[in-house]
Amino acid sequence: MTTNSMGLEQTLSDEHVIREYRTSSSVWIQCSKQAYDRRKAEGFEVRELYEQPQIQPQNIPEIIPVTCNWSPDDNGVWGGTCGITWQFFDDGPAENGAKFCPGCGGLIAVGESVTNEP
Ligand SMILES: [Zn+2]
Repeated sequence: MTTNSMGLEQTLSDEHVIREYRTSSSVWIQCSKQAYDRRKAEGFEVRELYEQPQIQPQNIPEIIPVTCNWSPDDNGVWGGTCGITWQFFDDGPAENGAKFCPGCGGLIAVGESVTNEP
């Protein structure tokens, strides 16, 4: 193992290191640093895994449909083209100020015969 002073190992704090040893039944068991060192000394197969701390972007779906076409069924339950069903107390999305589909994030388009299918 190389340990260079500017390397990754220096920048990762210990909490991002996962230490495991392999049992006789080939199962990797996560263990503490102390146990890791002990197992290693005992001749167990050991490994260190690095958990990269990541700056996660917000959970934004890759594809946000531009519009989701909503129409009510006979019971007044609305359905969108993404498959969502939604019920309002009265009237529809426009009357209730609903602009975006909670299912797909698309702009709600009511009624009209707009189809995405060929
Ligand atoms: Zn939708």
